[in-house]
Amino acid sequence: MARAITQGIAFAIFISGDMGNKVEKPIKMRPTTNTIPACLTGGNLYSKRDLLSFFIVMCQSYKKKQTSNKKCERMFIACACLSTIHKYYLPSSFKFSIMRFLFLTLLIILWFPLLSFCYTPTRIPVKLGDNEIYLLKYDKAGESMVFVHVHENETSSLEAGLHTWNRTGGKLITLVHSFDGSKNRFVTFSHKKTTYRFDPNRIYTHDRTILKNNISVVKGKGEVDDFIVNEVEKLAKIIWREVDGFSFIIALHNNNNEAGALVRKNWFKKVYREESFNITSYIKKFDTESSSNLSCDDIYINPRLNNSEFFIVTERRDFSILYRKRYTVVLQNDNPIDDGSMSVFAKKYNIRYVNTEAKMGRIKEQIEMLRILLDL
Ligand SMILES: [Zn+2]
Repeated sequence: MARAITQGIAFAIFISGDMGNKVEKPIKMRPTTNTIPACLTGGNLYSKRDLLSFFIVMCQSYKKKQTSNKKCERMFIACACLSTIHKYYLPSSFKFSIMRFLFLTLLIILWFPLLSFCYTPTRIPVKLGDNEIYLLKYDKAGESMVFVHVHENETSSLEAGLHTWNRTGGKLITLVHSFDGSKNRFVTFSHKKTTYRFDPNRIYTHDRTILKNNISVVKGKGEVDDFIVNEVEKLAKIIWREVDGFSFIIALHNNNNEAGALVRKNWFKKVYREESFNITSYIKKFDTESSSNLSCDDIYINPRLNNSEFFIVTERRDFSILYRKRYTVVLQNDNPIDDGSMSVFAKKYNIRYVNTEAKMGRIKEQIEMLRILLDL
């Protein structure tokens, strides 16, 4: 709603300023993910073609039952075009006349429903010990699929996901748990002067021992007791409740794609930092099996693609489709190691699951991956 109000204020300034005078430069609106149509940011707001498109889109809007976001876009175009008429095509004698009053009234009438149509996520508060975190939920009519983003610091995948969700509809959920300006992979919370930490993609399991082992104490003298496990389990259930019922889960993740290297730990000591998670994490190396390798059934690597961009799928059909499109892909086996990750949990419930992995910052590439996956 805040974004919509900001846009409303910006637009109000736009329509109220210099009435009847020509504006030298096209208005530059700050592009946002899902509320401003591209045609308004391209600078061709003031052409006669826009007037024509105004009438076309208005007719289409009322003829068909548009989804809310489409209505939002179309109403925005309508408002913009009306203001264009006001600035360019009304004679100056209308400036202080009843016509001007009627025009502005019409604009205001159009703006009110627009504000209510614009998307803002639903915020679901979740209490964890002494703290509160939030699950944000973007929801609109469309495909029966849910985009899941649980690692707060993997911002590129969220952006790619929102971009795709805006086209396809369905649901997108994301976690917000850092409130000091930082973004973190791990969720931390306090209880009785002890700070606990867990990975929000290692909490989906019915095995409480696995869940308990996935929670660590980072500060204080408390233990991971039943209360702490219950708190984390509560979050897992709330997230799963939002996912359950959809036939297709698309997980959004980013990796760092860093090679193994010696890094300085302190003045006197250097330690070896393992290479970050990538497609080769699924390959058995030096006769040693990793949990990723043990959970893998099949793999296809396109040698021309970087090791950071790949899919993880749970169904053979998805593997075959992506293989035919020559995209690097891993097929999780039918009996994967239960490490609390959502891909394993989804398999238990026979829900189609695909994880899109891309290097942090590669938003365009991840959007392209989602396009390939959904055949957009
Ligand atoms: Zn992740």
